[in-house]
Amino acid sequence: MKSLIIASALLIVGSCAETKYSKKIENLENGVKIIDTKLIKEFSNSITAKDLKKRLIIFSSEAFQGRATGEEGQKKATAFLQNFYKTEGILPAVNDATYYQKIPKEFFPKGIGASENVLAYIKGSEKPDEVLIISGHLDHLGIEDNTIHFGADDNGSGSMAITEIAQAFKLAEKQGYSPKRSILFLHLTAEEIGLQGSRFYIENPIFKLNKTIANLNIDMIGRVDEKHKDNPNYIYIIGADRISKELNYTSAKTNKTFTNLELDYKYNDKNDHNRYYYRSDHYNFAKQNIPVIFYFNGEHEDYHKPSDTEEKINYKLLEKRTKLIFATAWQLANKPTFLIKNKDL
Ligand SMILES: [Zn+2]
Repeated sequence: MKSLIIASALLIVGSCAETKYSKKIENLENGVKIIDTKLIKEFSNSITAKDLKKRLIIFSSEAFQGRATGEEGQKKATAFLQNFYKTEGILPAVNDATYYQKIPKEFFPKGIGASENVLAYIKGSEKPDEVLIISGHLDHLGIEDNTIHFGADDNGSGSMAITEIAQAFKLAEKQGYSPKRSILFLHLTAEEIGLQGSRFYIENPIFKLNKTIANLNIDMIGRVDEKHKDNPNYIYIIGADRISKELNYTSAKTNKTFTNLELDYKYNDKNDHNRYYYRSDHYNFAKQNIPVIFYFNGEHEDYHKPSDTEEKINYKLLEKRTKLIFATAWQLANKPTFLIKNKDL
């Protein structure tokens, strides 16, 4: 008799705790308020398919030789980015004017030459020490079997999306709308050889890792996969709820307000055998307990093949996905409070 009473008492306590937790989650979701709707709509107009195409044609051209880490084509890619930021008046985030975070060849597996990440930033007006990182890898496979792997989608698409987002934030800054937190535009090298560029950044961060509100990582967002070929208005969202559910709610509400893409969470399933969550640069940030979103279009028949070329990019869709990331970045850079992590709920 006694034990049963204890058992049912425990049951009540248990269910109360559960109610409390689900109430917290509900409050968290309801607490996400979308800010600056009008400004975001205005400045996202500068993100265009035309601009993306103009730059991606160059970035994935024969001259860039598939951008293999440490090779001449990769140096052309980093010089291209450096030149872009210089021209736009967007500042370097390292202590010299080169925009380069140099990585010595000793850091890489044998046979790979020295390389560099490219870092530009816009300074936060209220909390300049806090930072949102928007990242994407600039390298690709280079030349294999005498054939250039152009890497237009992987990851020319993400690289050019970052430049468009940076330009939109710069335009806003010029008109008096600086972000509250700093925003780092982080072009990473050596992703294809094992997420090395992001590993180097994590070991040599420019902003304190515990002041990094989130990492939005873009890797392949210009194409459509088999699953969505009849309804291409989508993007895969991976990892967004793992460290901060608040980030995931912010992402979803932002999309609903501005872009209305189908957010496909298929690959966010912890049991998914593709394990994409572990396969691009955001994972190095996630390991540091920094909330991340990985934006991805899924694989297609040209994935990691020489046929991943520019003319197959869906530029209108690339524009829309870029606008989603811009709007999400705006929310994160300007929200009043730091993101709440799941472990603190
Ligand atoms: Zn990639």
